[in-house]
Amino acid sequence: MSFIPYGRQFIDGADVQAVVDVLKGDWLTQGPAVEAFEKAFAAKVGVKHAVAFCNGTAALHGAYYAAGVGPGDRVVTSPLTFAATANAARYLGADVRFVDVDPTTLCLDPSKLDPLASEGLKVIAPVSYGGYPAPLDQIIPFARSLNAVVVEDACHALGAGRNGRMVGAEADMTVFSFHPVKHITTAEGGMVTTDDDEFARRLRLFRSHGIERDPSRMSRCDGPWYYEMVDLGYNYRLSDIHSALGLSQLSKLDGFVEARRRIAERYDRLLSGIHLVELPPSHSGHSYHLYPIQVPEELRFSLFNLLRDSGVGVQVHYLPVHMHPYYRNLYGFDPEDFPNALDFYRRAISLPMFPSLEEEQQERVVKVIREFMTRRA
Ligand SMILES: *Cc1c(COP(=O)(O)O)cnc(C)c1O
Repeated sequence: MSFIPYGRQFIDGADVQAVVDVLKGDWLTQGPAVEAFEKAFAAKVGVKHAVAFCNGTAALHGAYYAAGVGPGDRVVTSPLTFAATANAARYLGADVRFVDVDPTTLCLDPSKLDPLASEGLKVIAPVSYGGYPAPLDQIIPFARSLNAVVVEDACHALGAGRNGRMVGAEADMTVFSFHPVKHITTAEGGMVTTDDDEFARRLRLFRSHGIERDPSRMSRCDGPWYYEMVDLGYNYRLSDIHSALGLSQLSKLDGFVEARRRIAERYDRLLSGIHLVELPPSHSGHSYHLYPIQVPEELRFSLFNLLRDSGVGVQVHYLPVHMHPYYRNLYGFDPEDFPNALDFYRRAISLPMFPSLEEEQQERVVKVIREFMTRRA
């Protein structure tokens, strides 16, 4: 029986041709394809600016930089995320604070945000976990009251909707990743969207060595060759090769999201009658990067192994960030410090979720779960 991964890219002939065309042209590094991808991405999301980065982690780093994060500042995020959401704040010398998730949304619980504990707060980085749009309605006013910037980590949530807008249009800045398991891929790649001209300018500065080329912003200008470095930036640029793939992938986004929603509905239906299986939270704007079920803690390990042995590439997303040795050692965290994230971690299994997942494959996955649960009941 063939192995079913938990996620995988969908690449067609048009994608391949788009990359080949760039390879035959004049520009390989950041050039016209990057600009075209950024323009199309901004238009799709419904924002003024989209700034491409070489991966989602670099994009997070850039967004925190643009927000003005520096040594000693605080960045608040959810413990239920990929470590990069927190790491990018550490790159800038900031301190990370976690706020536990709401078990019904699996996103940062806004009712746990505490103004008294928010001294030095620079950024709140809610994570739209699994593609469920994080509750910005409550987070944005809290951030405004403390002059903090909202950077949404929407690496799971391209194509998701909230309040009649696309995810990416509401936070001060929104970060996306184009890793192959995400909604669209450029192999490695990332993007930050924003309506703010100053954030966009700082994002562009940061991704290219901190180099300024606008004469009106330079300390002097010695001639047409002249540029100067005004802050310490990085080489975080995306190439034209990657961007051509991204632009071609973006034209298929609506279909990808529809397929993911259809697959989620089918899982919901097939799994709903099974004893002790909890379904992921639903939301009309959900774009389903992941489909995480929860089962009783004492059954998770054996069900996970049985699925793997049956050729189903299940995964657990994620070990909560505060439990990684780096963060435990840095801040002295106890696993129980964020009990909802811990509880989810102990019970979660991400089922296969990708646009080309076939009905027959889904039924195979569910059959393993049903038979296992029936034996335990
Ligand atoms: C994938 C991901 C990232 C990092 O993206 P890369 O492109 O792999 O660097 C950050 N945050 C979350 C929640 C992610 O899923």
